[in-house]
Amino acid sequence: MKQTHIENLLNKETLLPADLGELLRTRGEDRLLLFAKGAEVKKQYVGNVVYFRGLIEYGNLCRKNCYYCGIRKDNTCTGRYTMTDEEVIDAARFAFREGYASLVLQSGELMSKSHRQQITRLLQMINHATEGKMGITLSLGEQDMETLAEWRNAGARRYLLRIETSNPHLYSRLHPQDAQHDFKQRIETLKMLKNLDYQVGTGVMIGLPFQTIEDLANDLCFFRDYDIDMIGMGPYIEHEHTPLYAYRQSLLPQAERFDLGLKMIALARIMMKDINIAATTAMQAIDKMGREKALKVGANVMMPNLTPQKYRENYLLYQDKPCTDEEAEQCKKCLEIRVKLAGDQIGYKEWGDSKHYANRIKRKTD
Ligand code: SAH
Ligand code: SF4
Repeated sequence: MKQTHIENLLNKETLLPADLGELLRTRGEDRLLLFAKGAEVKKQYVGNVVYFRGLIEYGNLCRKNCYYCGIRKDNTCTGRYTMTDEEVIDAARFAFREGYASLVLQSGELMSKSHRQQITRLLQMINHATEGKMGITLSLGEQDMETLAEWRNAGARRYLLRIETSNPHLYSRLHPQDAQHDFKQRIETLKMLKNLDYQVGTGVMIGLPFQTIEDLANDLCFFRDYDIDMIGMGPYIEHEHTPLYAYRQSLLPQAERFDLGLKMIALARIMMKDINIAATTAMQAIDKMGREKALKVGANVMMPNLTPQKYRENYLLYQDKPCTDEEAEQCKKCLEIRVKLAGDQIGYKEWGDSKHYANRIKRKTD
């Protein structure tokens, strides 16, 4: 049977920005072909297995003022917290008992000797409490080489640092113009992480004010060119106590941001077949079945929230964040059902490292 133009594009060896733009604009039957291809590539290269990463939102103190984020330094409407050592270790033990083989420790960005030492100590304590069996991911913002090396040596295996957008001009409209919010430094940090042999995750927000389809197409090329191991991306969701809220009238409707999110996930899977891709909470914030839909088109990682409930209302990066009123156990049950609905199984007790990372390291040592 004769292939359609979209089918031809989907089978192309290397997708160019113009192809990606076209695919991001697909509607109707063509859009479904894109999603089916994402599902097919997922099944073939990483299998229908979903890996859980228990998410610990360690604290919301932040030295930065990103214009989109609800926990930015200048937002005085949020209470500030840092979890105690005991709370972090309890969450790690819970994850270990439940068979989640990985954790993500995430927080606002802090840079100080005491913070560095504190994270090192936590890494050591988590390793001790979980018999060194937990694959630990950090998502603690930009840090210097010395700090990242210290944390890697203390047992961190992966690091998530979203580029937020690969367009430096757009980046500068989303952040204050100062040395703390420097696009080049963000890129440098991603390079450092790679040199230190972290599994490196990055990502973008989708549907930001001033963002174009071409920007998103270029974001996908950025992920491919930087040979990254993991992607976490989701729709931008406005927060009333942030400067970008002033532009809310110019945004795409949330349903369209969500749909673009699905297309970005499917395309990322088609282009970078063996990487890990997260079905993010922001997808669920817009659509109750958002994460299941993300799994169906190519995502293979989910992050059950392990943050104690009393802190959750203060870790609102964006409004209407789901599961802020649930404890970890309830989240786990709900995720199990959701994964089954998406036609996947859960890879309990498996680190679920990015296959891409293993292949990348192998290429480096061959
Ligand atoms: N401070 C660290 C990690 C916490 S923020 C860092 O910035 O890397 C984690 C992610 O939340 C950010 O990378 C950003 O992409 C996302 N985020 C922040 N505000 C958001 C919003 N309003 N809508 C959607 N995602 C948002
Ligand atoms: Fe801080 Fe991260 Fe939010 Fe920026 S996105 S304000 S660095 S928590």
